[in-house]
Amino acid sequence: MRIDLATIALFGALQALLLAPLLLVATRAYAGVARTSLRIWGTVLLLQAIGWVLMGLRGQVSDWVSIVLANGVLMVSYAETTRALRLLLGVPQRRALLVMIGATGWLGIAWFGVAVPDYRMRVYIASLALGAYLLLLVWPLRHALRRGGSIAQRVMLLVLLGALAGWAARLGDLALHPAGAAGLLAYSPANAVQMIYSAVEPVLASIGFLLMYNETVQAELHRLARTDPLTGTLNRLALDEESARLFSATSRPNTLAALIIDVDHFKRINDEFGHATGDRVLAALAAAIRWRLQPPAVLGRMGGEEFLALLPGTGLAEAMALAERLRVAVAAMPPVSDADVPGVTISVGIAAYRPEDTEVQTLVRRADRALYDAKRAGRNRVVAAMGDTSPVQPGAAAPSPQQTPPAE
Ligand code: GH3
Ligand code: MG
Ligand code: MG
Repeated sequence: MRIDLATIALFGALQALLLAPLLLVATRAYAGVARTSLRIWGTVLLLQAIGWVLMGLRGQVSDWVSIVLANGVLMVSYAETTRALRLLLGVPQRRALLVMIGATGWLGIAWFGVAVPDYRMRVYIASLALGAYLLLLVWPLRHALRRGGSIAQRVMLLVLLGALAGWAARLGDLALHPAGAAGLLAYSPANAVQMIYSAVEPVLASIGFLLMYNETVQAELHRLARTDPLTGTLNRLALDEESARLFSATSRPNTLAALIIDVDHFKRINDEFGHATGDRVLAALAAAIRWRLQPPAVLGRMGGEEFLALLPGTGLAEAMALAERLRVAVAAMPPVSDADVPGVTISVGIAAYRPEDTEVQTLVRRADRALYDAKRAGRNRVVAAMGDTSPVQPGAAAPSPQQTPPAE
């Protein structure tokens, strides 16, 4: 069976042409990076359709159109494909590099298309440019091969490696049969394989892209569903999940600490300066605390102006030192607005894991009682739960405040 490669090129173009408007219309429903990348992808498909139609017209139109223009359009589409996927992968777009690769490749192809016509040189140059683009994608996608890596990214990697293999087959064919280098649309098994793959690639790559896109959106929704919108810390739901997870991974005493952090006299801020100012103070305070609590520590908003931090692998002494640093940092925070809003302070109650703690709530309740003691003792201080002792500060048992800064 002889395959008409020009027809296949047009068939590929038609598929891309049908997919493009679908994707472009779908972008309306989405926002953010995912939307931008989906838009670029839709445009890429349009460009590919145009490029392949122009290329399929080889012999019927001038070489300026079927070689120079067609390759220019395809080169832009490859650069944009790379950009869309890198955007979705969260790696830098490298626009300047993408433009440089495309421009160099296109100028080379144009030169060997119309100035010094040489099909082999065109294939070599196109392969180099495409290879560079593919590397810029395969490299960040390599993480997908790790255990538990993203399925969508693996699909995309496979599609891209397929494209790479198609070009390699064509280069090999060219090296083995230099005499038969009549052009892309001249029949040879390698040309046929590559052309068929190119024709189905818009669909394959779009499937891979949509799977990746879906993963990105899902991850974003998951993040939003677990984040407190005002403070950016975990919300109650996520906090319960994370606490249970950390607690179940703990078995030795003093290897998990719970901190309950509560803003002192916060109601006054609301009453005197309004709820909006109160919100700004809360957001600034949470940012100051988050910045000082790096993973694996988790921080969440229990409600109102009260936060819970869980510090895995941390004993009482270390937790108290950290809490003290938080207290000092919050007390030193600059005012949130030009208005005469006074600085705020926090009180922190701390408990460290004991084997008799049957569930995370037991630990949190002890920290909560310590917080109550801190409030009673005058606020703006860090207090450890009754009976919790620190191996480093064995004499410093609560409730008498273990660290007593000047009261307000
Ligand atoms: P204490 O030192 O005893 O903790 O006193 P407090 O005023 O901080 O405590 P109280 O529990 O009496 O008041 C907490 C206030 O926090 C009451 C509520 O209006 C305010 N609040 C709770 N959630 C928010 C919020 O999301 N935004 C703002 N602006 N205020 C909030
Ligand atoms: Mg309070
Ligand atoms: Mg409170």
